[in-house]
Amino acid sequence: MLKPGCRRFRMDFTPGAESPQDAHRQSCPACAAYAAAMERAAKKIPLPAGLRSKLRAVPGAAAGGGPRMLMPQAPMPEALRDRLRQMSRRPELPPLPAWARSSRYALAASYLLAVLLGATFGNPVEAAGALTRSMDRAVRPRVEHAIESVEGRSVRRLDDLKSAVRERYGATRGSLNTLEQALD
Ligand SMILES: [Zn+2]
Repeated sequence: MLKPGCRRFRMDFTPGAESPQDAHRQSCPACAAYAAAMERAAKKIPLPAGLRSKLRAVPGAAAGGGPRMLMPQAPMPEALRDRLRQMSRRPELPPLPAWARSSRYALAASYLLAVLLGATFGNPVEAAGALTRSMDRAVRPRVEHAIESVEGRSVRRLDDLKSAVRERYGATRGSLNTLEQALD
């Protein structure tokens, strides 16, 4: 793992150029060896002069005091900068309205609703009573009719059962009589 000073020296080092951190090269044998190897390689593969000047012209590539950026620092349009700032800010939720924060408002709202309903349909208690009465009128006869029909059917089934038993009994009785007569 390189020390931060060594890493900075190797990042800033350009073969053949005056480095502002030559003091580090003189004091650090590892970085001196690195710089010598880089200079040997640069002599073997010389950079074309045109490309060298182009690389120097890239913004941020100049050996300045600040840290090197991966992306060249280009001026940003003001509108885009503002939008990016707004995106980074936490959105502030608008405060809840007063009627949602206080239960007194909810009570008042339900009372108002009751009053409005009462004004529309009359007294709510009376309206409820009338609803019950109308339900009674509509539903009770049907229920009673259903019960009566079930009862009627049950009575009829019971009668059928009774007659069937009576028939069976009669038949048994008849056959017993026949048996008695035969035995006598
Ligand atoms: Zn070093």
